[in-house]
Amino acid sequence: MLSLYMATIISEPSRTFSEYLLLPNLTGKDCIPDNISLKTPLVKNKRGENSALTLSIPLSSAIMQSVSNHTLAIALARCGGLSFVYQSQPIADQAEMVRKVKNFKAGFVASNSNLKPESNLLDVKELLGRTGHSTMPITQDGSANGKLLGVLTSRDYRLKDMDLGTPVSQIMTPFESLVYAEEGISLREANDLIWEHKLNSLPVIDRSRKLRYLVFRQDYDEHRENPDESIDAEKRLMVGAGVNTRDYRERIPVLLEAGADILCIDSSDGFSDWQRDLLAWVRDEYGEEIRIGAGNVVDGEGFRFLAECGADFVKVGVGGGSICITREQKGIGRGQASAVIDVARARDEYFESTGEYVPICSDGGIVLDYHILLALAMGADFVMMGRYFSRFDESPGKILRIQGNYVQEYWAEGSERARNWQRYYVGGEEALTFEEGVDIYVPYAGKLKDNVNLTLSKIKSAMCNCGVTSIADLQSKARLTVVSSTTIREGGAHDVISKEKDLPPGT
Ligand code: IMP
Repeated sequence: MLSLYMATIISEPSRTFSEYLLLPNLTGKDCIPDNISLKTPLVKNKRGENSALTLSIPLSSAIMQSVSNHTLAIALARCGGLSFVYQSQPIADQAEMVRKVKNFKAGFVASNSNLKPESNLLDVKELLGRTGHSTMPITQDGSANGKLLGVLTSRDYRLKDMDLGTPVSQIMTPFESLVYAEEGISLREANDLIWEHKLNSLPVIDRSRKLRYLVFRQDYDEHRENPDESIDAEKRLMVGAGVNTRDYRERIPVLLEAGADILCIDSSDGFSDWQRDLLAWVRDEYGEEIRIGAGNVVDGEGFRFLAECGADFVKVGVGGGSICITREQKGIGRGQASAVIDVARARDEYFESTGEYVPICSDGGIVLDYHILLALAMGADFVMMGRYFSRFDESPGKILRIQGNYVQEYWAEGSERARNWQRYYVGGEEALTFEEGVDIYVPYAGKLKDNVNLTLSKIKSAMCNCGVTSIADLQSKARLTVVSSTTIREGGAHDVISKEKDLPPGT
Protein backbone atom coordinates (compact mmCIF):
# COMPACT_ATOMS: atom_id res chain seq x y z
CA MET A 1 0.00 0.00 0.00
CA LEU A 2 1.32 3.46 -0.90
CA SER A 3 1.81 5.80 2.01
CA LEU A 4 1.65 9.56 1.61
CA TYR A 5 3.93 10.21 4.54
CA MET A 6 6.80 7.77 4.14
CA ALA A 7 9.07 6.54 1.40
CA THR A 8 8.49 3.32 -0.54
CA ILE A 9 10.65 0.67 1.10
CA ILE A 10 12.03 -2.11 -1.10
CA SER A 11 12.30 -5.10 1.22
CA GLU A 12 14.92 -7.03 -0.84
CA PRO A 13 18.39 -6.01 0.33
CA SER A 14 20.72 -4.36 -2.13
CA ARG A 15 23.21 -7.09 -3.10
CA THR A 16 26.70 -7.03 -4.60
CA PHE A 17 28.41 -9.57 -6.87
CA SER A 18 30.38 -11.13 -4.01
CA GLU A 19 27.10 -12.31 -2.51
CA TYR A 20 26.50 -14.77 -5.34
CA LEU A 21 28.06 -17.94 -6.71
CA LEU A 22 27.30 -19.97 -9.84
CA LEU A 23 26.30 -23.62 -9.55
CA PRO A 24 27.84 -26.06 -12.03
CA ASN A 25 25.55 -27.60 -14.69
CA LEU A 26 26.20 -30.72 -16.73
CA THR A 27 29.29 -30.08 -18.90
CA GLY A 28 28.93 -31.70 -22.32
CA LYS A 29 32.03 -32.92 -24.18
CA ASP A 30 31.65 -30.12 -26.74
CA CYS A 31 31.72 -27.59 -23.94
CA ILE A 32 35.42 -26.71 -24.14
CA PRO A 33 37.07 -23.26 -24.06
CA ASP A 34 37.84 -23.36 -27.80
CA ASN A 35 34.15 -23.71 -28.59
CA ILE A 36 33.07 -20.75 -26.48
CA SER A 37 31.99 -17.54 -28.16
CA LEU A 38 31.94 -14.36 -26.07
CA LYS A 39 30.41 -12.30 -28.88
CA THR A 40 27.84 -9.87 -27.57
CA PRO A 41 25.50 -7.14 -28.86
CA LEU A 42 26.47 -3.52 -28.29
CA VAL A 43 23.42 -1.73 -29.67
CA LYS A 44 19.68 -2.33 -29.81
CA ASN A 45 18.13 -4.57 -32.41
CA LYS A 46 14.66 -5.66 -33.47
CA ARG A 47 13.42 -9.17 -32.78
CA GLY A 48 14.94 -11.60 -35.27
CA GLU A 49 17.63 -9.17 -36.41
CA ASN A 50 21.28 -9.07 -35.40
CA SER A 51 22.75 -6.13 -33.52
CA ALA A 52 24.41 -3.70 -35.96
CA LEU A 53 27.45 -3.45 -33.69
CA THR A 54 28.87 -6.34 -31.72
CA LEU A 55 31.95 -7.00 -29.59
CA SER A 56 33.99 -10.23 -29.62
CA ILE A 57 34.54 -9.93 -25.87
CA PRO A 58 32.10 -8.34 -23.40
CA LEU A 59 34.53 -5.74 -21.99
CA SER A 60 34.47 -1.95 -22.26
CA SER A 61 36.62 0.60 -20.48
CA ALA A 62 35.28 3.38 -18.28
CA ILE A 63 34.77 6.94 -19.51
CA MET A 64 37.53 8.25 -17.23
CA GLN A 65 40.66 10.39 -17.52
CA SER A 66 42.71 7.74 -15.75
CA VAL A 67 41.44 4.92 -17.98
CA SER A 68 40.27 5.56 -21.54
CA ASN A 69 42.76 7.49 -23.63
CA HIS A 70 43.85 6.51 -27.15
CA THR A 71 46.57 4.05 -26.10
CA LEU A 72 44.20 2.04 -23.94
CA ALA A 73 41.48 2.26 -26.61
CA ILE A 74 43.86 0.82 -29.21
CA ALA A 75 45.00 -2.03 -26.96
CA LEU A 76 41.45 -2.96 -25.93
CA ALA A 77 39.99 -2.79 -29.45
CA ARG A 78 42.80 -5.05 -30.62
CA CYS A 79 41.64 -7.64 -28.08
CA GLY A 80 38.00 -7.36 -29.19
CA GLY A 81 36.61 -4.92 -26.58
CA LEU A 82 35.82 -1.21 -26.74
CA SER A 83 36.88 1.97 -24.96
CA PHE A 84 34.86 5.13 -24.52
CA VAL A 85 37.36 7.99 -24.64
CA TYR A 86 36.77 10.34 -21.71
CA GLN A 87 34.84 13.56 -22.24
CA SER A 88 36.20 15.58 -19.30
CA GLN A 89 38.67 17.34 -21.61
CA PRO A 90 38.44 19.99 -24.33
CA ILE A 91 36.45 18.84 -27.38
CA ALA A 92 39.45 19.14 -29.74
CA ASP A 93 41.64 16.99 -27.45
CA GLN A 94 39.02 14.26 -27.15
CA ALA A 95 38.52 14.28 -30.94
CA GLU A 96 42.28 13.98 -31.42
CA MET A 97 42.33 10.84 -29.24
CA VAL A 98 39.47 9.37 -31.28
CA ARG A 99 41.35 10.20 -34.48
CA LYS A 100 44.48 8.48 -33.19
CA VAL A 101 42.54 5.27 -32.65
CA LYS A 102 40.87 5.45 -36.06
CA ASN A 103 44.21 6.18 -37.78
CA PHE A 104 45.99 3.36 -36.01
CA LYS A 105 47.33 0.80 -38.41
CA ALA A 106 48.55 -2.37 -36.79
CA GLY A 107 52.26 -2.54 -37.19
CA PHE A 108 52.55 1.06 -38.48
CA VAL A 109 53.89 3.14 -35.61
CA ALA A 110 54.27 6.91 -35.47
CA SER A 111 57.89 7.42 -34.40
CA ASN A 112 58.32 8.97 -30.96
CA SER A 113 62.14 9.27 -31.01
CA ASN A 114 63.22 11.75 -33.64
CA LEU A 115 66.17 14.12 -34.00
CA LYS A 116 67.36 16.92 -36.28
CA PRO A 117 70.55 16.44 -38.39
CA GLU A 118 72.39 18.98 -36.23
CA SER A 119 71.54 17.09 -33.00
CA ASN A 120 74.58 15.38 -31.45
CA LEU A 121 75.31 12.19 -29.53
CA LEU A 122 74.50 13.91 -26.25
CA ASP A 123 70.95 14.40 -27.58
CA VAL A 124 70.93 10.74 -28.62
CA LYS A 125 71.90 9.72 -25.08
CA GLU A 126 69.18 11.89 -23.56
CA LEU A 127 66.50 10.62 -25.97
CA LEU A 128 67.50 7.02 -25.44
CA GLY A 129 67.19 7.50 -21.68
CA ARG A 130 63.74 9.05 -22.10
CA THR A 131 62.12 6.67 -24.61
CA GLY A 132 64.32 3.58 -24.47
CA HIS A 133 64.13 3.41 -28.29
CA SER A 134 67.44 3.12 -30.09
CA THR A 135 66.02 3.58 -33.61
CA MET A 136 65.86 7.33 -34.28
CA PRO A 137 64.68 8.80 -37.55
CA ILE A 138 66.52 12.02 -38.43
CA THR A 139 64.10 14.51 -39.94
CA GLN A 140 64.65 18.05 -41.15
CA ASP A 141 62.72 19.64 -38.29
CA GLY A 142 63.19 16.81 -35.77
CA SER A 143 59.46 15.98 -35.77
CA ALA A 144 57.71 12.63 -36.28
CA ASN A 145 56.41 13.76 -39.67
CA GLY A 146 59.28 15.91 -40.93
CA LYS A 147 61.23 15.32 -44.16
CA LEU A 148 63.25 12.12 -43.67
CA LEU A 149 67.02 12.68 -43.96
CA GLY A 150 68.34 9.48 -42.44
CA VAL A 151 68.00 6.94 -39.64
CA LEU A 152 70.21 6.30 -36.65
CA THR A 153 70.25 2.87 -35.00
CA SER A 154 72.26 1.35 -32.16
CA ARG A 155 74.64 -0.07 -34.80
CA ASP A 156 75.74 3.47 -35.73
CA TYR A 157 77.06 4.64 -32.37
CA ARG A 158 78.88 3.59 -29.18
CA LEU A 159 78.09 6.25 -26.64
CA LYS A 160 80.93 5.44 -24.28
CA ASP A 161 83.66 5.45 -26.95
CA MET A 162 82.64 8.41 -29.08
CA ASP A 163 82.76 12.18 -28.77
CA LEU A 164 79.30 13.19 -27.54
CA GLY A 165 79.55 16.38 -29.61
CA THR A 166 79.48 14.39 -32.89
CA PRO A 167 76.50 15.51 -35.01
CA VAL A 168 74.10 12.71 -35.94
CA SER A 169 74.29 13.73 -39.61
CA GLN A 170 77.85 12.32 -39.65
CA ILE A 171 76.96 8.87 -38.40
CA MET A 172 73.35 8.21 -39.52
CA THR A 173 72.50 6.04 -42.51
CA PRO A 174 71.59 8.76 -45.01
CA PHE A 175 68.30 8.69 -46.90
CA GLU A 176 70.04 7.71 -50.15
CA SER A 177 71.28 4.44 -48.57
CA LEU A 178 68.07 3.61 -46.69
CA VAL A 179 65.58 0.89 -47.51
CA TYR A 180 62.20 2.59 -47.17
CA ALA A 181 58.62 2.20 -48.37
CA GLU A 182 55.94 4.56 -49.60
CA GLU A 183 52.61 5.11 -47.91
CA GLY A 184 49.97 2.66 -49.09
CA ILE A 185 52.20 -0.38 -48.65
CA SER A 186 50.46 -3.25 -46.85
CA LEU A 187 51.82 -4.71 -43.66
CA ARG A 188 52.57 -7.97 -45.43
CA GLU A 189 54.62 -6.17 -48.13
CA ALA A 190 56.41 -4.12 -45.48
CA ASN A 191 57.25 -7.27 -43.59
CA ASP A 192 58.57 -8.93 -46.77
CA LEU A 193 60.94 -5.96 -47.27
CA ILE A 194 62.06 -6.20 -43.65
CA TRP A 195 62.93 -9.86 -44.10
CA GLU A 196 64.50 -9.48 -47.53
CA HIS A 197 66.87 -6.74 -46.35
CA LYS A 198 67.38 -8.09 -42.81
CA LEU A 199 66.11 -4.85 -41.29
CA ASN A 200 64.94 -4.15 -37.78
CA SER A 201 62.64 -1.40 -38.93
CA LEU A 202 61.32 0.10 -42.14
CA PRO A 203 60.50 3.83 -42.49
CA VAL A 204 57.34 4.60 -44.47
CA ILE A 205 57.24 8.01 -46.19
CA ASP A 206 54.69 9.99 -48.17
CA ARG A 207 55.14 11.46 -51.63
CA SER A 208 57.02 14.50 -50.35
CA ARG A 209 59.44 12.28 -48.39
CA LYS A 210 57.84 13.14 -45.09
CA LEU A 211 58.05 10.38 -42.50
CA ARG A 212 54.68 8.75 -41.75
CA TYR A 213 55.44 5.57 -39.80
CA LEU A 214 58.01 3.01 -38.83
CA VAL A 215 57.25 -0.70 -39.22
CA PHE A 216 59.08 -2.97 -36.79
CA ARG A 217 59.70 -6.62 -37.41
CA GLN A 218 57.91 -7.99 -34.34
CA ASP A 219 54.68 -6.05 -34.88
CA TYR A 220 53.59 -8.14 -37.81
CA ASP A 221 53.50 -11.33 -35.82
CA GLU A 222 51.62 -9.55 -33.06
CA HIS A 223 48.97 -8.43 -35.53
CA ARG A 224 48.37 -11.99 -36.63
CA GLU A 225 47.59 -12.92 -33.04
CA ASN A 226 44.57 -10.63 -32.86
CA PRO A 227 41.79 -12.34 -34.83
CA ASP A 228 39.06 -10.86 -32.61
CA GLU A 229 39.87 -7.18 -33.13
CA SER A 230 36.96 -4.72 -32.95
CA ILE A 231 37.04 -3.20 -36.42
CA ASP A 232 34.70 -1.13 -38.59
CA ALA A 233 33.73 -1.80 -42.22
CA GLU A 234 36.97 -0.20 -43.39
CA LYS A 235 39.01 -2.41 -41.05
CA ARG A 236 39.88 0.50 -38.75
CA LEU A 237 39.77 -0.09 -34.99
CA MET A 238 36.48 0.81 -33.34
CA VAL A 239 36.30 3.44 -30.63
CA GLY A 240 33.57 4.97 -28.50
CA ALA A 241 33.46 8.45 -26.97
CA GLY A 242 31.81 9.89 -23.89
CA VAL A 243 29.58 12.96 -24.14
CA ASN A 244 27.90 15.10 -21.50
CA THR A 245 24.52 16.76 -21.19
CA ARG A 246 25.97 20.30 -21.23
CA ASP A 247 27.99 20.84 -24.42
CA TYR A 248 26.69 17.98 -26.60
CA ARG A 249 25.57 20.25 -29.44
CA GLU A 250 29.18 21.30 -29.99
CA ARG A 251 30.94 18.08 -28.92
CA ILE A 252 28.99 15.41 -30.81
CA PRO A 253 29.53 16.74 -34.37
CA VAL A 254 33.28 17.03 -33.76
CA LEU A 255 33.53 13.50 -32.33
CA LEU A 256 31.58 12.05 -35.24
CA GLU A 257 33.76 13.93 -37.69
CA ALA A 258 36.82 12.42 -35.95
CA GLY A 259 35.35 8.95 -36.56
CA ALA A 260 33.79 7.86 -33.23
CA ASP A 261 31.80 4.66 -33.87
CA ILE A 262 29.50 5.02 -30.89
CA LEU A 263 28.82 7.57 -28.16
CA CYS A 264 27.80 7.18 -24.54
CA ILE A 265 26.41 9.75 -22.15
CA ASP A 266 28.74 10.02 -19.18
CA SER A 267 26.64 10.73 -16.12
CA SER A 268 26.23 9.39 -12.62
CA ASP A 269 22.44 9.64 -12.94
CA GLY A 270 20.80 8.82 -16.26
CA PHE A 271 17.19 9.03 -15.08
CA SER A 272 16.89 12.70 -15.95
CA ASP A 273 15.33 15.23 -18.29
CA TRP A 274 18.87 16.23 -19.34
CA GLN A 275 19.41 12.82 -20.92
CA ARG A 276 15.98 12.87 -22.54
CA ASP A 277 16.85 16.21 -24.16
CA LEU A 278 20.23 14.97 -25.37
CA LEU A 279 18.79 11.79 -26.90
CA ALA A 280 15.96 13.74 -28.55
CA TRP A 281 18.51 16.16 -30.05
CA VAL A 282 20.60 13.26 -31.42
CA ARG A 283 17.55 11.61 -33.03
CA ASP A 284 16.40 14.95 -34.52
CA GLU A 285 19.83 15.72 -35.94
CA TYR A 286 20.98 12.29 -37.06
CA GLY A 287 18.01 9.89 -36.92
CA GLU A 288 18.92 6.31 -36.01
CA GLU A 289 22.24 6.54 -37.82
CA ILE A 290 24.18 7.54 -34.72
CA ARG A 291 24.67 4.99 -31.98
CA ILE A 292 24.48 6.29 -28.42
CA GLY A 293 24.24 4.66 -25.01
CA ALA A 294 22.80 6.35 -21.93
CA GLY A 295 22.85 5.92 -18.16
CA ASN A 296 23.48 5.23 -15.42
CA VAL A 297 20.35 3.71 -13.92
CA VAL A 298 19.74 1.09 -11.22
CA ASP A 299 16.16 -0.06 -11.74
CA GLY A 300 13.52 -0.99 -14.28
CA GLU A 301 11.92 2.44 -14.28
CA GLY A 302 15.19 4.13 -15.16
CA PHE A 303 15.80 1.57 -17.90
CA ARG A 304 12.39 2.00 -19.52
CA PHE A 305 12.76 5.77 -19.45
CA LEU A 306 16.06 5.67 -21.37
CA ALA A 307 14.92 2.91 -23.74
CA GLU A 308 11.83 4.97 -24.62
CA CYS A 309 14.03 8.05 -25.10
CA GLY A 310 15.90 6.09 -27.80
CA ALA A 311 19.11 4.91 -26.10
CA ASP A 312 21.01 2.24 -28.05
CA PHE A 313 22.20 0.62 -24.84
CA VAL A 314 21.66 1.39 -21.18
CA LYS A 315 24.41 1.55 -18.59
CA VAL A 316 23.70 0.25 -15.07
CA GLY A 317 25.31 1.22 -11.77
CA VAL A 318 25.34 3.99 -9.21
CA GLY A 319 27.79 4.09 -6.35
CA GLY A 320 29.49 0.72 -6.93
CA GLY A 321 32.71 1.98 -8.53
CA SER A 322 35.94 1.22 -6.67
CA ILE A 323 36.81 4.93 -6.47
CA CYS A 324 33.25 6.09 -5.87
CA ILE A 325 32.06 7.75 -2.68
CA THR A 326 28.62 8.79 -3.98
CA ARG A 327 26.85 6.49 -1.51
CA GLU A 328 28.77 7.98 1.39
CA GLN A 329 28.37 11.54 0.22
CA LYS A 330 24.72 11.45 -0.86
CA GLY A 331 23.21 8.12 0.17
CA ILE A 332 22.33 7.36 -3.46
CA GLY A 333 22.94 4.02 -5.16
CA ARG A 334 22.20 0.32 -5.22
CA GLY A 335 24.23 -2.88 -4.84
CA GLN A 336 25.50 -3.63 -8.33
CA ALA A 337 24.09 -7.18 -8.51
CA SER A 338 20.59 -6.06 -7.49
CA ALA A 339 20.75 -3.21 -9.99
CA VAL A 340 21.75 -5.48 -12.89
CA ILE A 341 19.12 -8.10 -12.02
CA ASP A 342 16.33 -5.51 -11.82
CA VAL A 343 17.34 -3.74 -15.04
CA ALA A 344 17.80 -7.03 -16.94
CA ARG A 345 14.28 -8.06 -15.94
CA ALA A 346 12.92 -4.75 -17.25
CA ARG A 347 14.97 -5.14 -20.46
CA ASP A 348 13.42 -8.57 -21.08
CA GLU A 349 9.89 -7.25 -20.42
CA TYR A 350 10.57 -4.34 -22.77
CA PHE A 351 11.72 -6.80 -25.43
CA GLU A 352 8.57 -8.90 -24.96
CA SER A 353 6.27 -5.91 -25.31
CA THR A 354 8.06 -3.89 -28.04
CA GLY A 355 10.15 -6.47 -29.91
CA GLU A 356 13.22 -4.30 -29.32
CA TYR A 357 16.25 -5.70 -27.48
CA VAL A 358 18.23 -2.98 -25.73
CA PRO A 359 21.59 -4.28 -24.44
CA ILE A 360 22.64 -3.37 -20.91
CA CYS A 361 26.13 -2.66 -19.61
CA SER A 362 27.06 -3.32 -15.99
CA ASP A 363 29.30 -0.40 -15.01
CA GLY A 364 31.54 -0.41 -11.92
CA GLY A 365 32.14 -2.69 -8.97
CA ILE A 366 33.92 -5.53 -10.79
CA VAL A 367 36.64 -6.62 -8.37
CA LEU A 368 37.33 -10.27 -9.16
CA ASP A 369 37.35 -11.74 -12.65
CA TYR A 370 34.36 -13.97 -11.91
CA HIS A 371 32.25 -10.89 -11.16
CA ILE A 372 32.23 -10.30 -14.93
CA LEU A 373 30.69 -13.73 -15.42
CA LEU A 374 28.12 -13.07 -12.70
CA ALA A 375 27.15 -9.75 -14.31
CA LEU A 376 26.67 -11.53 -17.65
CA ALA A 377 24.71 -14.38 -16.05
CA MET A 378 22.47 -11.80 -14.34
CA GLY A 379 21.60 -10.39 -17.76
CA ALA A 380 24.28 -7.82 -18.63
CA ASP A 381 25.40 -7.91 -22.26
CA PHE A 382 28.77 -6.41 -21.48
CA VAL A 383 30.57 -4.76 -18.58
CA MET A 384 32.43 -1.47 -18.14
CA MET A 385 35.47 -1.34 -15.89
CA GLY A 386 37.72 1.39 -14.59
CA ARG A 387 39.95 -0.03 -11.84
CA TYR A 388 40.62 -3.16 -13.89
CA PHE A 389 42.03 -1.25 -16.88
CA SER A 390 43.73 1.49 -14.86
CA ARG A 391 46.40 -1.05 -13.79
CA PHE A 392 47.82 -1.60 -17.26
CA ASP A 393 50.76 -0.15 -19.20
CA GLU A 394 48.42 1.33 -21.78
CA SER A 395 46.31 3.42 -19.36
CA PRO A 396 47.23 7.06 -18.65
CA GLY A 397 48.09 6.90 -14.92
CA LYS A 398 51.75 7.17 -13.89
CA ILE A 399 53.44 3.98 -12.68
CA LEU A 400 55.26 4.55 -9.37
CA ARG A 401 57.21 2.46 -6.89
CA ILE A 402 55.93 2.90 -3.36
CA GLN A 403 57.30 0.93 -0.41
CA GLY A 404 58.74 -1.65 -2.76
CA ASN A 405 55.51 -2.18 -4.70
CA TYR A 406 54.67 -0.98 -8.17
CA VAL A 407 51.44 0.97 -8.21
CA GLN A 408 49.60 3.05 -10.79
CA GLU A 409 47.57 6.20 -10.38
CA TYR A 410 43.78 5.92 -10.65
CA TRP A 411 41.52 8.86 -10.03
CA ALA A 412 37.73 9.23 -10.10
CA GLU A 413 35.85 11.55 -12.43
CA GLY A 414 34.21 13.20 -9.42
CA SER A 415 37.54 13.77 -7.68
CA GLU A 416 39.22 17.11 -7.21
CA ARG A 417 41.81 16.02 -9.76
CA ALA A 418 39.39 15.26 -12.64
CA ARG A 419 36.77 17.88 -11.76
CA ASN A 420 34.23 16.37 -14.18
CA TRP A 421 31.30 18.45 -12.90
CA GLN A 422 29.29 17.74 -16.06
CA ARG A 423 28.97 14.11 -14.96
CA TYR A 424 27.25 15.19 -11.75
CA TYR A 425 25.24 18.11 -13.10
CA VAL A 426 21.81 18.40 -11.51
CA GLY A 427 21.06 21.99 -12.53
CA GLY A 428 22.37 25.15 -10.91
CA GLU A 429 26.04 25.83 -10.40
CA GLU A 430 28.34 24.59 -13.18
CA ALA A 431 31.11 23.40 -10.86
CA LEU A 432 32.08 20.44 -8.69
CA THR A 433 30.84 21.56 -5.29
CA PHE A 434 31.93 18.43 -3.40
CA GLU A 435 33.84 15.28 -4.34
CA GLU A 436 32.08 12.04 -5.32
CA GLY A 437 35.24 10.06 -5.89
CA VAL A 438 38.80 9.61 -4.75
CA ASP A 439 42.32 9.92 -6.21
CA ILE A 440 44.25 6.75 -5.29
CA TYR A 441 46.65 4.00 -6.47
CA VAL A 442 46.00 0.53 -7.81
CA PRO A 443 48.51 -2.34 -8.03
CA TYR A 444 50.32 -2.11 -11.36
CA ALA A 445 49.59 -5.22 -13.47
CA GLY A 446 51.52 -4.98 -16.77
CA LYS A 447 50.21 -5.36 -20.30
CA LEU A 448 46.50 -5.19 -21.08
CA LYS A 449 46.56 -8.11 -23.46
CA ASP A 450 48.17 -10.54 -20.98
CA ASN A 451 45.67 -9.63 -18.27
CA VAL A 452 42.63 -9.72 -20.55
CA ASN A 453 43.68 -13.15 -21.86
CA LEU A 454 43.98 -14.46 -18.30
CA THR A 455 40.59 -13.02 -17.33
CA LEU A 456 38.95 -14.51 -20.42
CA SER A 457 40.43 -17.92 -19.78
CA LYS A 458 38.91 -17.92 -16.29
CA ILE A 459 35.55 -16.83 -17.71
CA LYS A 460 35.62 -19.52 -20.39
CA SER A 461 36.62 -22.18 -17.91
CA ALA A 462 33.71 -21.26 -15.62
CA MET A 463 31.35 -21.26 -18.61
CA CYS A 464 32.41 -24.86 -19.29
CA ASN A 465 31.49 -25.68 -15.68
CA CYS A 466 28.10 -24.07 -16.31
CA GLY A 467 27.67 -26.21 -19.44
CA VAL A 468 27.32 -23.23 -21.82
CA THR A 469 29.18 -22.01 -24.91
CA SER A 470 27.76 -18.50 -25.40
CA ILE A 471 26.66 -15.54 -23.31
CA ALA A 472 23.03 -16.01 -24.37
CA ASP A 473 23.29 -19.63 -23.25
CA LEU A 474 24.77 -18.55 -19.93
CA GLN A 475 21.93 -16.09 -19.36
CA SER A 476 19.25 -18.67 -19.96
CA LYS A 477 20.87 -21.63 -18.17
CA ALA A 478 23.02 -20.25 -15.33
CA ARG A 479 21.93 -20.99 -11.75
CA LEU A 480 23.01 -18.58 -9.06
CA THR A 481 22.93 -18.93 -5.31
CA VAL A 482 23.13 -16.25 -2.64
CA VAL A 483 26.01 -16.99 -0.27
CA SER A 484 26.32 -16.61 3.48
CA SER A 485 29.33 -14.90 5.08
CA THR A 486 30.71 -18.28 6.18
CA THR A 487 30.38 -19.60 2.62
CA ILE A 488 32.53 -16.68 1.51
CA ARG A 489 35.15 -17.60 4.11
CA GLU A 490 35.03 -21.21 2.93
CA GLY A 491 35.71 -19.98 -0.62
CA GLY A 492 39.30 -18.87 0.00
CA ALA A 493 42.21 -20.95 1.34
CA HIS A 494 41.23 -21.50 4.97
CA ASP A 495 42.39 -23.25 8.11
CA VAL A 496 45.90 -23.75 6.71
CA ILE A 497 49.23 -22.09 7.41
CA SER A 498 50.44 -19.56 4.85
CA LYS A 499 54.09 -20.15 3.87
CA GLU A 500 54.88 -16.44 3.49
CA LYS A 501 53.04 -14.81 6.37
CA ASP A 502 52.32 -17.17 9.24
CA LEU A 503 55.68 -18.80 9.90
CA PRO A 504 58.37 -16.87 11.79
CA PRO A 505 61.55 -16.05 9.77
CA GLY A 506 64.11 -18.87 9.64
CA THR A 507 61.50 -21.63 10.17
P1 IMP B 1 35.36 0.49 -11.17
O1 IMP B 1 35.49 -0.39 -12.39
O2 IMP B 1 34.81 -0.24 -9.99
O3 IMP B 1 36.64 1.19 -10.85
O4 IMP B 1 34.27 1.60 -11.53
C1 IMP B 1 34.39 2.45 -12.63
C2 IMP B 1 33.13 3.26 -12.75
O5 IMP B 1 32.99 4.14 -11.63
C3 IMP B 1 33.08 4.21 -13.94
O6 IMP B 1 32.76 3.59 -15.14
C4 IMP B 1 32.02 5.20 -13.51
O7 IMP B 1 30.71 4.75 -13.77
C5 IMP B 1 32.19 5.24 -12.01
N1 IMP B 1 32.88 6.48 -11.56
C6 IMP B 1 33.93 7.13 -12.11
N2 IMP B 1 34.26 8.22 -11.39
C7 IMP B 1 33.41 8.25 -10.35
C8 IMP B 1 33.22 9.15 -9.24
O8 IMP B 1 33.94 10.13 -9.04
N3 IMP B 1 32.20 8.85 -8.39
C9 IMP B 1 31.37 7.78 -8.59
N4 IMP B 1 31.52 6.91 -9.59
C10 IMP B 1 32.52 7.15 -10.47
